[in-house]
Amino acid sequence: MKGLIFSVKRYSIHDGPGIRVTFFMKGCPLSCWWCHNPEGISPFSEKVIRTDKVGEREFSTSEEVGKYYTVENILEILEKERVFFNQSKGGATFSGGEPMLQYEFLLEALKACKANGYHTAVDTSGYSSAENYKSIIPFTDLFLFDIKHLDEARHIESTGVSNIGILDNYRLLLESGKDIMVRVPVIPGINDDPYYMEKLKKFLISTKTKSIKKINLLPFHKIGSSKYKRFNLPYRMEGIEPPAKEKMQELKELFCETGVKVKVGG
Ligand code: SF4
Repeated sequence: MKGLIFSVKRYSIHDGPGIRVTFFMKGCPLSCWWCHNPEGISPFSEKVIRTDKVGEREFSTSEEVGKYYTVENILEILEKERVFFNQSKGGATFSGGEPMLQYEFLLEALKACKANGYHTAVDTSGYSSAENYKSIIPFTDLFLFDIKHLDEARHIESTGVSNIGILDNYRLLLESGKDIMVRVPVIPGINDDPYYMEKLKKFLISTKTKSIKKINLLPFHKIGSSKYKRFNLPYRMEGIEPPAKEKMQELKELFCETGVKVKVGG
């Protein structure tokens, strides 16, 4: 069995505890307006032309985005980093895209990671079947779970899918007892108004269990915007600026009222 992965990031420190290797798996059923990994949306490998500028000159190169890995390939990569994992309590994170889209490969990879003593994290939008989540729970130490919007209509508008199943899966994982870090993208004009943020804080309090270890507030940024053209996708956030530091600080204080540790950033 093979999984299609578009990037392998070593020495990652924002995708779970310690030093990690993050595997970015290709394919996502969502199409969030603010996605900074548009290369992860298509479930197929893609050939794109990459243009880099050096001074006044532009250089174009053809690039294949997405490469197949076996579970053994994953273990070989992780083995090289074992010393860092041991020292930092790190491990492997499966992100994307949406890693649950390649659920069968993900399950095998997680099982193999656990059998080899690695801490495992799954960074997910929550958009998959409850059965799939139930299958990976025993082999996942930590879930990085995105909550993008509580309002269903707004969620459909800005991500392309309903949030009903996502929130059901969130509750399912809360009951599992596994560690969860809630990731809240802060997107100007979409979910950053005080009324909504207050509502989200109350939701997090009302559903809180000891599973929740941290809330990460992820400010919108434009780093991925230049990739949209390359992947022939429409960029919906043109002209939108990242939230100010003061705004993120205010939100941090608001979410501290949940009694959970809050961090701005991953
Ligand atoms: S869920 Fe994540 S990877 Fe998928 S479109 Fe949204 S931001 Fe991008």
